[in-house]
Amino acid sequence: MSVVDRQEWDVVVVGAGGAGLRAAIEARERGARTAVICKSLFGKAHTVMAEGGIAAAMANVNEHDNWQVHFRDTMRGGKFLNQWRMAELHAQEAPDRVWELETWGALFDRTKDGRISQRNFGGHEYPRLAHVGDRTGLELIRTLQQKIVSLQQEDMKETGDYESRLKVYQECTVTRILKTVSHSGSAAGSRVSGAFCYERESGRFFVLEAPSVVIATGGIGKSFKVTSNSWEYTGDGHALALLAGAPLLNMEFVQFHPTGMVWPPSVKGILVTESVRGDGGVLRNSDGKRFMFEYIPDVFKEKYAQSEEEGDRWYEDPDNNRRPPELLPRDEVARAINSEVKAGRGSPHGGVFLDVSTRMPAEVIRRRLPSMYHQFKELADVDITAESMEVGPTCHYVMGGIAVESDTAAARGVPGLFAAGEVAGGMHGSNRLGGNSLSDLLVFGRRAGLHAAEYAAGFAEDRPAVDDIQVDTAAAEALRPFSAEGPEPGEENGRPPENPYTLHQELQQTMNDLVGIIRRGGEMEQALEKLADLRVRARRAGVEGHRQFNPGWHLALDLRNMLLVSECVARAALERTESRGGHTREDHPTMDRAWRRINLLCRLTDPTGGLAATDPVAGQIDLARETTEPIRSDLLALFEKEELVKYLAEEELYE
Ligand code: FAD
Repeated sequence: MSVVDRQEWDVVVVGAGGAGLRAAIEARERGARTAVICKSLFGKAHTVMAEGGIAAAMANVNEHDNWQVHFRDTMRGGKFLNQWRMAELHAQEAPDRVWELETWGALFDRTKDGRISQRNFGGHEYPRLAHVGDRTGLELIRTLQQKIVSLQQEDMKETGDYESRLKVYQECTVTRILKTVSHSGSAAGSRVSGAFCYERESGRFFVLEAPSVVIATGGIGKSFKVTSNSWEYTGDGHALALLAGAPLLNMEFVQFHPTGMVWPPSVKGILVTESVRGDGGVLRNSDGKRFMFEYIPDVFKEKYAQSEEEGDRWYEDPDNNRRPPELLPRDEVARAINSEVKAGRGSPHGGVFLDVSTRMPAEVIRRRLPSMYHQFKELADVDITAESMEVGPTCHYVMGGIAVESDTAAARGVPGLFAAGEVAGGMHGSNRLGGNSLSDLLVFGRRAGLHAAEYAAGFAEDRPAVDDIQVDTAAAEALRPFSAEGPEPGEENGRPPENPYTLHQELQQTMNDLVGIIRRGGEMEQALEKLADLRVRARRAGVEGHRQFNPGWHLALDLRNMLLVSECVARAALERTESRGGHTREDHPTMDRAWRRINLLCRLTDPTGGLAATDPVAGQIDLARETTEPIRSDLLALFEKEELVKYLAEEELYE
């Protein structure tokens, strides 16, 4: 019998970013006793870094905006591979989620007549991003945190305990989702029973028992060398779902944001928000040319300005002019920058120039883009009110993720598992529009919390039992890096342990060089070989010292997740022989309409018996094709026929 400490909850939410906190609030408000667990400090999640804003068709700045236009933009941005029902719910519900935030105390920037201000962003037809300067994520998290504290105060009044119905376990990491087993010991028909966790400070293990677990762990960017993502983004939730038996959807779609800092090397990859372009910033090459006019793809030709004059007029008169091509969806801009640099027209440090200094007065720049002003001044000694920034693509967001039911956020195939936020797949298709993540977190965070609470309520009497063997196995797995020396199967003598930091660096370099922004079949095959080798070596990832705050140990455990997820990305990217959104193949450079109907699902098949395995990297990634669900006809009717012809497969048009 395992001696690991256990606590009982109805709903456990893994992750305290925008999606996790919104899910937790909803679950608690629906009456579920809810625990939130997060790797970092409460209030420090990656969402805090979000800059530009929350996309919601509130029509505050342009009265023509509505959910249908937002839906259309989202589908176009995702090149029609979006789970259309998610895109529909998202466009319909986002305004309510923003207004709700305001009633909870969020202080958005205002229009002159006192409404929530909305700004332009790439791919959005109208100004749509509600914002707080360029620190929107911070305000979002602050507001949700405040709401959680106010719910805890209510609970204190009623029960005498702040944490009786809503508790945050900060600086704690989940390493396994636990599931029930039948009397025969089989996992068939099993459901979620809880989560296995460790406290980062003490290294102590504990179990949170619950019928519902919501995964809201964010993205995977730390598998790539150049990234805008924070240290938390090691793909944990993606891997936890895979290990629990849920499939991942379309993992080939990774967004490379066009504008990350390229200099100095220590800050390479840090984001330069799209608001810079939304507010009038332009991209130039080393010849001083606004090159984006050369890169407007056919599918967008009608919608974007064909001359600098028209593009510039659009900022003042959007109804009678078309938007400048600097505001094309991110995948298009990132590829264009990549091509300019490759053609020898880049900036001194391998990017291109992004200029606001000649476009706005200095005090407007400092007021509208305060973080960018400070970021460049402090990190690169560049004054953006007087000189151009140097920028280049950086790994930013993963569109692929846990395959979920659109309405309920339930993970496919694992009863009791839910997912929301960046970790969930489908909503953004092959490419996410800026601002659509923060709204996604709120819309689907709420839905995940609601359905997780409803599901858990069905187990008031007969809660899913936690299996002791799984708990002991998870503990052994977590302790493995402390005894990593030893022979591989078939060997007689032990080998020295591998350094987790070296393995991580090799993984990042591999993903950057071989599965990066421009992909080639041969290189991805090489990447898969390298990943297989890294998986074998990761078995011996070893650490010294003890369990009290030991970052090497934490990384050794995170490696399992990054390796599993990276393999999914590489396998799916090799399989999809076309270029679409965040997946560009040099050897298959065009979008192929036949591929619109195909989703790629990755599953982990584990010949050693799933959860019973202590080997952190056992099991194989299996890839399957699945036909997408036909888009509902009233939603298709929102588009012109000529446009649909560019995207839909032949048989879909016929249908
Ligand atoms: P997160 O906010 O990352 O939260 C993940 C949580 O999971 C954290 O609390 C973490 O500690 C926890 N966690 C992870 N693994 C574990 C584990 N194993 N155990 C326990 N806890 C775990 N989007 C927009 O819409 N608008 C913007 O303006 C915008 N700007 C951005 C700017 C930057 C610099 C970046 C990097 C992204 C930006 N994005 C923006 C994207 C957006 O911020 C993210 O997609 C979004 O915040 C993800 O939120 P989340 O709730 O899914 O995850």
